[in-house]
Amino acid sequence: MGKRPESGSLLPTPHSPLPIPHSPLLMRITFLGTGTSVGVPMIGCGCEVCRSDDPRDKRLRTGLMVEMTGDGGERRMVIDVSADFRQQALREKIDRLDALLITHCHADHVFGLDDIRPINFRHGPIPVFASEGAWRGLRRIFSYIFEREHIGGGLPQLVPHVIEGEFETCGLRVTPVPVIHGKGEVTGFRFGPFGEARAQAAFITDCNLISDESLEKLRGLDLLIIDALRYKPHPTHLHVEQSLAYIAELKPRRALLTHIGHDIKHNEASRRLPENVELAYDGLSIEL
Ligand SMILES: [Zn+2]
Ligand SMILES: [Zn+2]
Ligand SMILES: [Zn+2]
Repeated sequence: MGKRPESGSLLPTPHSPLPIPHSPLLMRITFLGTGTSVGVPMIGCGCEVCRSDDPRDKRLRTGLMVEMTGDGGERRMVIDVSADFRQQALREKIDRLDALLITHCHADHVFGLDDIRPINFRHGPIPVFASEGAWRGLRRIFSYIFEREHIGGGLPQLVPHVIEGEFETCGLRVTPVPVIHGKGEVTGFRFGPFGEARAQAAFITDCNLISDESLEKLRGLDLLIIDALRYKPHPTHLHVEQSLAYIAELKPRRALLTHIGHDIKHNEASRRLPENVELAYDGLSIEL
């Protein structure tokens, strides 16, 4: 087993980029989950969407997997680990993880952190990237991970990195894109392989407002994945009309909506979306 992080190691540490796959040939993006915080179906709800037989209306909590394949091998990163992460990892056969990125410290994005342990048992500690604010929350919620006196049970092993600007991992150049989520800040991510004219994607979940400065970081995308909770306005999330307005302004080649609640029925909503916009669904995989 790898070395357990010490409590002091939550201070900013120099990034130690993983070996980069040479000449990355392919970036594959897979939706681990596309649901809002309670998931769809929601416990106790008998609405049309919660009762739907369409597998695309079954939404685990939000998470994204990005895999890079090149001459030098394969690297895999995951953005957010919800309480459904175990189920998602089994479904997608995630036997190894080279990096974990955290958007923010809400329960539906981090409560699966303990489930990285089986990956640690096999491959040792996993580099985890989060903002200073998110680390404060993680340190509080998962204090047992960082307590030296904890005995037994096996602990998640992570190598903490504080996001302070652009960074590199898994053969990807990652640009943090801060967005507003009610009273909090969420880290969105723009990412793409190194080199000119390579595919560029961005994952912007949990937000109700994107500043002009952050919008500038989201131009020229091949794929934009963006929050779209429901049709009606919401204080801390984008609703469909707002998401479409951002998409119209940013003009990505393709856009996918995620973090979806039970107000939205996949096949009905899909028919009404503009040509380059789709609803994401669990298990959807895209190659760029
Ligand atoms: Zn959320
Ligand atoms: Zn429902
Ligand atoms: Zn949130």
